[in-house]
Amino acid sequence: MVGRFSAVLAGPDLVTRAGGRLGKADMHLHTLYSDGTASVQELLDHVEQRTDLDLIAVTDHERIDGAVRARELHAAGEYSFELVLGEEVTTRRGHVLALFISERIPALRPLPETLERIHDQGGIAIAAHPMAPLTPSLGTRSLLAAQSATDAHHRLDAIELMNPSAAGRGRRGERERLNREVLHLGAVGNSDAHVLDGVGTAWTWFPGASAADYRAAIEERTTRPDGRYWSNLHNLDVYRQQLIAKARHLRHTLRPTGEWR
Ligand SMILES: [Zn+2]
Ligand SMILES: [Zn+2]
Repeated sequence: MVGRFSAVLAGPDLVTRAGGRLGKADMHLHTLYSDGTASVQELLDHVEQRTDLDLIAVTDHERIDGAVRARELHAAGEYSFELVLGEEVTTRRGHVLALFISERIPALRPLPETLERIHDQGGIAIAAHPMAPLTPSLGTRSLLAAQSATDAHHRLDAIELMNPSAAGRGRRGERERLNREVLHLGAVGNSDAHVLDGVGTAWTWFPGASAADYRAAIEERTTRPDGRYWSNLHNLDVYRQQLIAKARHLRHTLRPTGEWR
């Protein structure tokens, strides 16, 4: 179980477009395809039945096959939210979320090359949990270098200002200030959930409800991050559930039984 959340972000400073609806997106979710603990099917059903999200993205580490599987299941089912393909790519400078992509982006490439590959596919690039001390993350220097690139293909599109995991907790004020004063990137919030209880604990508000609306809002800089930080208890529970999932991987390797992810 999630337990109690440790803090709540200051009241939502929302964009209000006259008479417009605001959508909720959580675009950073892990499944059993990487180090998450739920299958793609479990994730989709959880989002449908237990959250009010309008839009999600499956973003497993260094792979896109889980997201592709999610798209198949999503197309075959009746879901009231939209789904975008994604990947959390480890660059030589830290983690970057690639959204609206169709093919896997390789890991451990220089940041400008990764950003170019994402944009060449028509995708957008988001700095995941930037400036986090213990998780591979873009630091101030990398963020500044990317944003001073002359070619737009080598720049980021958005920055994750709200990430409720242990990785996203530190240096929040510093991150917000850097973006407000210097970077001027689209500001998003994502749960970075590795367990079902974490899904939708942080999100992005955007005018509209569809994936196209989300994308337009990133470009127009009208997104707003929101959410609540996880308690230490929840962080411990994530590790516990990840251990159970690893045992599930191992059992499957020893004796494969049907579709397990
Ligand atoms: Zn990450
Ligand atoms: Zn992640």
